[in-house]
Amino acid sequence: MAITKKITDALPKKIGSKVPADRLSATTKKFIERLSRDYPDFTFSRGKQEHWSPKTNTITFNPTLTPELIRFGVLHELAHGLLKHKNYSGDFELLKMEGEAWHLASKIGLKYGVTIGEDHIQNCLDTYRDWLHHRSECPSCSTHVLQQSTSTYRCYNCGTTWKVSSGRFVRPYRLTKNSKQ
Ligand SMILES: [Zn+2]
Ligand SMILES: [Zn+2]
Repeated sequence: MAITKKITDALPKKIGSKVPADRLSATTKKFIERLSRDYPDFTFSRGKQEHWSPKTNTITFNPTLTPELIRFGVLHELAHGLLKHKNYSGDFELLKMEGEAWHLASKIGLKYGVTIGEDHIQNCLDTYRDWLHHRSECPSCSTHVLQQSTSTYRCYNCGTTWKVSSGRFVRPYRLTKNSKQ
């Protein structure tokens, strides 16, 4: 039983209004330009999902978020890159890496006058925790089990195995309710 990658943006709706992709604020533009100069090894590009690609050294940010959230996201993904986050052996290691990335993102942010609030960080990590909790639930009998390998869970109670997606860092996304089959 594969858990497909039906993930949905779980960021709180209350934060900010949407802006068209091609209308980044001047501040955001400047911020991205400055980062591109300071970190020439990285490519900064726009996309639907914020993420870090170790293969192409690319940081993707979502231009429809508020300028503040864009800055937080870019710094976070940059931190993954600087920490050379590539693979993780399991969900709990992923969570640890998420924490480390936020820690470094906050530090870099200071140089750019960006203060990433502790509540934002905890909120993001909580979303991850929820997501991981959800992944660890047996689709047949709802027992919560430990992960068996990077992409596999096996229920000790009923023997069901299921796969989870891995291999990429996604920012707080959460499996939708009906994605568990
Ligand atoms: Zn991350
Ligand atoms: Zn089970």
